[in-house]
Amino acid sequence: MSLRVVIGLGANLGDPLETMRTAVSDLSTVARVEKTSHVYRTAPVGGPPQLAFLNAAALVAYDGSPSSLLDDLLAIEARLGRVRRERWGPRVIDLDLLWIDGVAWESARLVVPHRHLRERAFALVPLLELVPDASDPRTGEPFAVPAGDVQSTGDVL
Ligand code: AMP
Repeated sequence: MSLRVVIGLGANLGDPLETMRTAVSDLSTVARVEKTSHVYRTAPVGGPPQLAFLNAAALVAYDGSPSSLLDDLLAIEARLGRVRRERWGPRVIDLDLLWIDGVAWESARLVVPHRHLRERAFALVPLLELVPDASDPRTGEPFAVPAGDVQSTGDVL
């Protein structure tokens, strides 16, 4: 049985839109990409002064475990040239495993739903665009979007 997963994409270096589109095409080599969200522009949270982030999400069906999906995401990030310089700093691409339908997962290297999902409008807005009735697998409660400056750019991935 496959997992139904929402992956969050974020970028603010180089050509973010192009990089996110390449990431989706890479994703389609390891999972079935069912839907992608609009692209949203968000003010950066924390870290040094930097360009606004673009964020989006992809709904995929995945045939492996959450842990092997994380490995696939990290490999895509590495391939697309992500350089880890500083925490919360600018990045070429960030791929997060935001939510898996009906699955709560907690290990040393992976927490699903993503640890910061509830407080991040830039993650929840595209997630709920794809799965409007998404809920927290631990409580069954539907997610609500917190306040935040998240604007659609009008682009789709
Ligand atoms: P960051 O670069 O801040 O996004 O952190 C990446 C690291 O967070 C990864 O190497 C993972 O081991 C860990 N991590 C924990 N939970 C998640 C998740 N839900 N999605 C992506 N990475 C996660």
